[in-house]
Amino acid sequence: MPQILDGARIRQQILDELKPRIQQLSSRARPPGLAVVLVGHDPASEIYVRGKVKTCGDLGIYSEKITPPATISTEELLAIVEELNRRPEIDGILVQMPLPKQVDSRRVLESVAADKDADGFHPFNVGRLVAGRPAPRACTPAGIMELLKRYQIPVAGQRAVIVGRSDIVGKPMALLLLHENATVTICHSKTSNLAEECRRAEILVAAIGRPALITREFIQPGATVIDVGMNRICDRALVERIFPDSPQKLVEFDKKGSVLLGDVHPLDVAARAGAYTPVPGGVGPLTIAMLMANTVKLAEKHLAGQP
Ligand code: NAP
Repeated sequence: MPQILDGARIRQQILDELKPRIQQLSSRARPPGLAVVLVGHDPASEIYVRGKVKTCGDLGIYSEKITPPATISTEELLAIVEELNRRPEIDGILVQMPLPKQVDSRRVLESVAADKDADGFHPFNVGRLVAGRPAPRACTPAGIMELLKRYQIPVAGQRAVIVGRSDIVGKPMALLLLHENATVTICHSKTSNLAEECRRAEILVAAIGRPALITREFIQPGATVIDVGMNRICDRALVERIFPDSPQKLVEFDKKGSVLLGDVHPLDVAARAGAYTPVPGGVGPLTIAMLMANTVKLAEKHLAGQP
């Protein structure tokens, strides 16, 4: 039987470890502070931000939600970020993506002070990641590294394949695995013979955004498979195509009107992998935990007067 890597359990461990650090900061000076900028009313973004603000509240982190309208200009949003950059009680700033089309997202992300970059997206911090220097790390890949570490899955010397080369998941994931001495391959939409590349992996990370693309023939028997994908499927025929022999998902679909699928086929991974993250309950819960960890670390630095 493969080992199921329980992201919710690891998330709780991470949060429990943060609590005494937050208490210490609060009793010595002030609680850590996180500002979340949520532009407009994208329903998925609203759910993510609600989760982040709630977790802050549960932990005793001060949080502030700024909600400018969807019509905001780049200059107006830059002014909001600049103001947050100046405020000493704000340790971390997060601008929820995606931003409306008229806003220059890159300029906005780059305007967040590098030492308040709770998401680890600022080019300065990406540069430090490349150089293997301490800095806030992108939350999802950092959470996956915590999961591997806490389940004692060996990384050094292992062949790791990452499917996806986004700035927020694929690329930082590759660098983090490389720094832990894995032999890393990055695949993408132009990779020829993707299944063959993936089959070489002892650690396979799927960060694609294509439901159940990674099937049995992509998975080396016994591999560790990390599924970052979060794909909500509202098309019954697609669910039927992905699960031709398993009525269970259709029952779930008929009950809820949609199903959540990762980038990895859930039945195939259970049949082939040595260990894997389920969807939901695998990678998802770790991302917010690492955002909290980044915020606490930034607060500790600020309150210690470190640059
Ligand atoms: P993204 O920016 O859209 O990047 C997707 C990557 O997948 C790209 O590099 C793309 O290649 C590659 N790709 C697309 N189709 C492919 C194919 N048929 N074969 C091989 N590679 C292919 O996505 P992302 O932001 O990294 O997110 C990926 C998934 O993770 C999404 O489902 C997202 O919802 C989920 N996610 C989950 C969490 C979490 O907390 N659980 C956090 C972030 C993201 P090209 O570069 O060649 O286009």
